[in-house]
Amino acid sequence: MEEDELGRGSEIIKETLDRPSILKNEAALSIDYIPANLPHREEKLRFLAQLFRFTLENPGSMNQKVLITGKIGTGKTAVSQRFGTDLVKIAKSRKINLRYIHVNCRECRGSLFLILKRALAEFVPSFPQRGYSSEELLQMLMDVLDKNNAFVILALDELESLIRAEGGTPLYNLTRIQEGRLDRPMRLSLICILRQPEYLKRLDSSTIGTLQHNIVQMDPYSIEQLTAILEDRVRLSFREGTAPDESIRFIAELASTTGDARYAIELLWRSAKYADAEAKRELEPEHVRKAVSAVYPTIRGDYVKSLSRQERITLLAITRALESSGSAYVTMGEIEKAYRIVCEELRETPRAHTQLWKFVRELSASGIIEAKKSGKGIRGRTTMVGLTMTSASAMRKWLEFSFAGQDKEPRKEFF
Ligand code: ADP
Ligand code: MG
Repeated sequence: MEEDELGRGSEIIKETLDRPSILKNEAALSIDYIPANLPHREEKLRFLAQLFRFTLENPGSMNQKVLITGKIGTGKTAVSQRFGTDLVKIAKSRKINLRYIHVNCRECRGSLFLILKRALAEFVPSFPQRGYSSEELLQMLMDVLDKNNAFVILALDELESLIRAEGGTPLYNLTRIQEGRLDRPMRLSLICILRQPEYLKRLDSSTIGTLQHNIVQMDPYSIEQLTAILEDRVRLSFREGTAPDESIRFIAELASTTGDARYAIELLWRSAKYADAEAKRELEPEHVRKAVSAVYPTIRGDYVKSLSRQERITLLAITRALESSGSAYVTMGEIEKAYRIVCEELRETPRAHTQLWKFVRELSASGIIEAKKSGKGIRGRTTMVGLTMTSASAMRKWLEFSFAGQDKEPRKEFF
């Protein structure tokens, strides 16, 4: 063991740790973080507040059943948790014993028994573990609520798991529990969170009717909405001036194909990590591209190999243009300039403009690059080309290898 080696290693670690990160609060980018503001979901919060206003104005007078549905990353969990947490705070200030209990059915392996056990644990930290059915547990929960004069909003997140494991009976029992206690206050409300509405078909018609009465539909976020969400998160987590609009917009654009805020925030976090790893002072589109290829490793080396020589040359020109511009997208003009240089290096006769156009279109059709019309600028509309699936420098390096006749297997870290 050479001491010298050991010394250098710890120096690198120390150097890295000494360098300030562009992040000031990484926790605000974590999966579990529930921001105080949920841009573009204000209306949903307002609707939920309307539905549950009785819990503050006349607790026990009724119980509510709500269904939140929408695709992945549309804010179902975040909205429910934000709403529940804030409502409980307000209830507390009014001396109402309201609890919001958020249970992920998947984590409870779709078992009503485990779900109710979690709920009960809010009131009785230790109760007999075995020997009860879930019906008995539900009764115990109601008794505890009576005893404490408490009210519960039980959020059943990822409800698919419960329905898949136990069918419609658990929900039937949960929504009907009050019928057996007609003279008692209504204490248990439900927020059901379901990504796939087709699961409703597995429930009995009266439960379906109950749930369909109050539906909160979450639509995928648009690019503008994602931009607002990202900007809000950047304010909380990035140091001042380290996340340029262009990079944020680029992330929003990438995530807007699915409208998934989770993907957007994950990209934001990962690209910050790449920026830090390169000791950069700000988030560059290149870091975002790297993050994309880490999150969705979709480009396969063999795919790039199947491209024609001219297509590879065009791709190399695009990656170089992207790298030297430092932007998310480059114009056809910039590509053409880079293309001529690459052709010269490789002793190829550059093809005419229309041919180059064809290569770009083909690369775009295969999904390896994205070509889009720019907004109306000074010079009118122009085609903007970007590379979305992997980082430009990784792609460039591999293409350069391949032209140098060294293309064995593309190195894994490039893709
Ligand atoms: P879902 O439950 O619909 O899959 P989540 O509620 O988990 O989606 O949201 C995914 C991620 O995006 C979470 O980190 C959440 O905090 C964030 N998020 C979703 N919607 C918003 C919003 N409107 N404002 C801020 N962050 C949001
Ligand atoms: Mg969720």
